[in-house]
Amino acid sequence: MRYCHYCHKTTTGDPLFCHFCGFTYDAKLCPGRHINPRWATVCSQCGSRELSTPAPRVPWWLKPLLLAGSLLPGVLVALLLVMVAIGLLQAVLTNQAVQAQLMATVLILAVLWWLFLLLPHFIQNMFRSLWRKPKKDRHQH
Ligand SMILES: [Zn+2]
Ligand SMILES: [Zn+2]
Repeated sequence: MRYCHYCHKTTTGDPLFCHFCGFTYDAKLCPGRHINPRWATVCSQCGSRELSTPAPRVPWWLKPLLLAGSLLPGVLVALLLVMVAIGLLQAVLTNQAVQAQLMATVLILAVLWWLFLLLPHFIQNMFRSLWRKPKKDRHQH
């Protein structure tokens, strides 16, 4: 069974085309049923230009969610950083003893921030693997 991201319907079995809109899944097929990548304009096996239209990889409504999901952690860490920076400033001004401790916290947060900058790619990949139908379709590659 495969889920079509274009018309949001499932087709049973191991289909090449969606039952409802006729789009293909993550691949372009020529009239000879050769499988080509979604960016192909000509079939690499027979040279045909009559390639099928693949359904979108990710549903359109998921894109803003993905964007928000990838931005949110960064925003949260930025807020935390600002809070710690303010705390550090106050501590330095009032109490020299906690200065070193807060410096360490800031360093850890800086590393976290750097990690979150790397996150968007990871989140996208995670969502993709979620949306690609698990289980039954596994054997076909
Ligand atoms: Zn469809
Ligand atoms: Zn072909």
